[in-house]
This record gives sequence, structure tokens and C-alpha cells, in this order.
Amino acid sequence: MVFDTHCHIHDEAYDSDREAVIRRAFAAGVQYMMFPGTDLPTSSAAVALTHRYEGVYAAVGIHPEDAASATPQGFAQLRKWLREEPKVVAVGEVGLDYHWPEPSHEIQKAVFIEQVKMAVELDMPIDIHDREAHGDTLAILRQYGKGIRGVFHCYSGSLEMARELLAMGFYFGFTGTTVFPNSKKLKRIAANLPLERMLIETDSPYLTPPPYRGKRNEPAYVRYVAAEIARLRNMRVEEVERITMENGKRIFNIP
Ligand SMILES: [Zn+2]
Repeated sequence: MVFDTHCHIHDEAYDSDREAVIRRAFAAGVQYMMFPGTDLPTSSAAVALTHRYEGVYAAVGIHPEDAASATPQGFAQLRKWLREEPKVVAVGEVGLDYHWPEPSHEIQKAVFIEQVKMAVELDMPIDIHDREAHGDTLAILRQYGKGIRGVFHCYSGSLEMARELLAMGFYFGFTGTTVFPNSKKLKRIAANLPLERMLIETDSPYLTPPPYRGKRNEPAYVRYVAAEIARLRNMRVEEVERITMENGKRIFNIP
């Protein structure tokens, strides 16, 4: 049994067959899934799906690419879900993405800081998106994230940065990119981090692993990520699946 700790099945990419995708995941041995919102409408959709399916949990937050949509009322709504919804287990997906020129770094940082403070104040884990923004992400966590815990989803930093994040108590999400043949640096990190801090995720509908690369991703394929980590660490895949599932339940406080 496995836990896909980051997949966007509330996304419109699944509007025509969402039920079938979720059923396929359960049938493939995915016992738990975590759906992170990226703005208010997607957070709301993720929360609604937690009511429909046992095993489905959600995070709510404003993604850096949607940072310009953030408002005080929106932050108040996120807080309300985090306080009142029993299956909303994290602030996310939030962070910084410097790959594209917009929104500006200033807007992204302000929205990220607000949500880091929210996680600290409500004592909830945070699900972080950090793309080409390692320095500022770490600086904000150091300054505003005293005592914070959480996950670097689709981890893309160095082994050195991982050591600092390990000391801070963070977990690391690995996606289908770990399976890509040319991901040498990522494979080295996946082979060397302590397994008790690693999670497996699909980031569906994105980052589809081989042999389905190029197609829409879905949670059932998370087992290809587990298989690659097992291969890299010379372990049994069942062990990787069991330990990463325990890790996911621990960091997201799932009984
Ligand atoms: Zn995501």
C-alpha cells in the first residue's frame, strides 16, 4: 500500500473521468492521496473531495504562480478551512517559483511569508513548491518559520541544502522526475537521504514517469517512483512503500 502525498485530482484535467482515476488509484494499492490546492477555487475543490472519499486528504494554499490572486479575505478562508476541516492536513501548495518572470518575486515572497506565518500560527505542516528559488525559500523559512515542519514537494535542491532542511525537520517529496533516465543528481539524492524523511508523489497531472511519460499522470503511477527508489537503494519495493506511507501519515498527522 502507498501514499501519493501530492496529486491534483481536483484539477480540470480529470473533469471527464475523476471518479475512475480515483477508483484506479485505490485498486492499484494507493491507500491515501493528498490533494493540494493552488488557489481558492482549487483549494475548495480539494476540500470537497475529502468529503467524498475515505483516504483522500487536502492541503489549502495559494501557489506562487497564483500569488497575484491572494487577498486578505482569501487568507481568512484558508485559515477557516485549516481550523475547521478535519481532512485538511497542511498549508499548500505554497512557495516560490522563479522560473517565469511573473508574478514578481516581491509578490510571491509576500504571499509565501503570509502562509508560512499561517502554518506556524495554526501549528500545521507546510507543503512547499520551490523552483529555482532555493536561497529565498530557505531565507524566508529561517526568518518566519520558527518550529515549522513540512515537505519540500518535488525536491530539486542540492544534497547540501537537504542537510540543512533535514536539521530543520523537513521531509522530501520525490516524483516521476526521479525515474527519468537523465535525472542523475536527483537519483543520487534519492539514494542518499534518510528514507524516514522521504515521500513519494506523482504531482498528477504533471511529471508522468516512464513508461507513461508524455501522457497525463495519475496516482496509480506513484508505484513507479517507489520502484525506482527501491532500485537506487537496493531495497525491496514493499519496504519503500511501507516506510514512505508511514512518513506521510506522520508528517500530515493522519491517524
Ligand atoms: Zn503540485
